[in-house]
Amino acid sequence: MALTPRAYPLIGYPKAWTPGTNGQVTGEAVLAVISTERDFDTFRGKLRGKFVLGTAMRDVPAHFDAPGHRYTEAELVELSKQPDAGGGRGGRGNFQANQEFAKKKTQFWVDEGVAAVLDISRGDGGTLFVQGGGSRDPKDPPSPAQVVIAVEQYGRIVRTLEKKIPVTLSMKIDNRFDDTDLNAFNIVGELPGSDKADEVVMIGAHFDSWHTGTGATDNAAGSAVMMEAMRLLKVSGVKLRRTVRIGLWGGEEQGLLGSKEYIKAHYADPVTMVLKPEHAKFAGYFNVDNGTGLIRGVYLQGNEAVAPIFQQWMEPFKNLGMNTLTIRNTGGTDHLSYDAVGLPGFQFIQDDTRRTETRSCRASRCRSRSRRPAAARRRSRKKKEPQSAEGSPRKFFSAIAACFAVPSYRREYLSPHARSFSFRSRASACSSIVSTGHGNRYVQFLSLTVAGSLTRSGHPKAS
Ligand SMILES: [Zn+2]
Repeated sequence: MALTPRAYPLIGYPKAWTPGTNGQVTGEAVLAVISTERDFDTFRGKLRGKFVLGTAMRDVPAHFDAPGHRYTEAELVELSKQPDAGGGRGGRGNFQANQEFAKKKTQFWVDEGVAAVLDISRGDGGTLFVQGGGSRDPKDPPSPAQVVIAVEQYGRIVRTLEKKIPVTLSMKIDNRFDDTDLNAFNIVGELPGSDKADEVVMIGAHFDSWHTGTGATDNAAGSAVMMEAMRLLKVSGVKLRRTVRIGLWGGEEQGLLGSKEYIKAHYADPVTMVLKPEHAKFAGYFNVDNGTGLIRGVYLQGNEAVAPIFQQWMEPFKNLGMNTLTIRNTGGTDHLSYDAVGLPGFQFIQDDTRRTETRSCRASRCRSRSRRPAAARRRSRKKKEPQSAEGSPRKFFSAIAACFAVPSYRREYLSPHARSFSFRSRASACSSIVSTGHGNRYVQFLSLTVAGSLTRSGHPKAS
């Protein structure tokens, strides 16, 4: 909290893999933004025991629009078009230089003996986005304590300092590294197929999150949707020809660690591209990791030839707002691990619900995919009651049945890695179910987890 010139509590969270303060620490705040080599000399010898505001204050605009955003029809049309070929970003050399400079700055803070380094992040109005600060590898150089502060309060401290009025802060950060178990895990479960049981369709989502929230919208929401898809496949009693497998990944936030390890163990080494036998039997992977917004379509990952297949299975869900295919790639999540070894892996287009890595990333942010379709289903159930003994929405289940009833057909296409693979229309059935708006049932997700209906497997090191 701030003690002078006026006492007020601060909204602040320590970054992951940064040390604590070793008890209550009180000291002066100082604005010390280091962006050039010369800045090191400016601040050398002046930061001991101080709380360093290491980031220049940014503009905090007034909000006139809601933070969540549903894609408009015009935006979806735009998204479906081939993007202009743009110039590359930054370049490797630039990236490496920035990394080196960041390392030097961290070492400088440690050497100068700062009390803690304060930072701001995306988000405002009390919403903080907090990720890692130091390194999770104990062999790497140490980091000082690092705290993300709400932008408005950070700005208040900066403005006070600019008026030459001293600001005293006091913090007690109880961080510690827990090295008792350095293994992380994936959760893998499957519904075995029948005559083509050795061929596999996978769905998945990442199971890990960051420390400042519960991870409900990133990515328990995605995990719950995929578990619900598995449950529906099971209770519908539909006879699966191929095996449907779910992967809930660990360590996604640290660089897709869990899914990368799984791919390496089962399908191919992305470095040598030596393929394992399971690679040839793989149909497709579908991933959900964009929060709790309505699903609006699919990113094709540059794979034009797969478009007609998705087009066909999106058909029953058009009136739920899912009708867009884009040739564009989307990155940042576990389908990339499949894509990297030439396996078809896809992520959905979803409405933006301002979801990730925030301290408000909690179950209260989760939404049913859409209240309207849910209501429509309720209505449909009422109408169909006499024909539906279990009271399940008929149309919904007949849609699932349709996905599995169509004759299996194969389509050869080229992946971005210029390899030829087959893709089956049925592979997408699970994802069709996911996209119907069956909601994020967080409670159900928890109960399934507790019931241990899925097995642990794969132990990627995430130390
Ligand atoms: Zn995520």
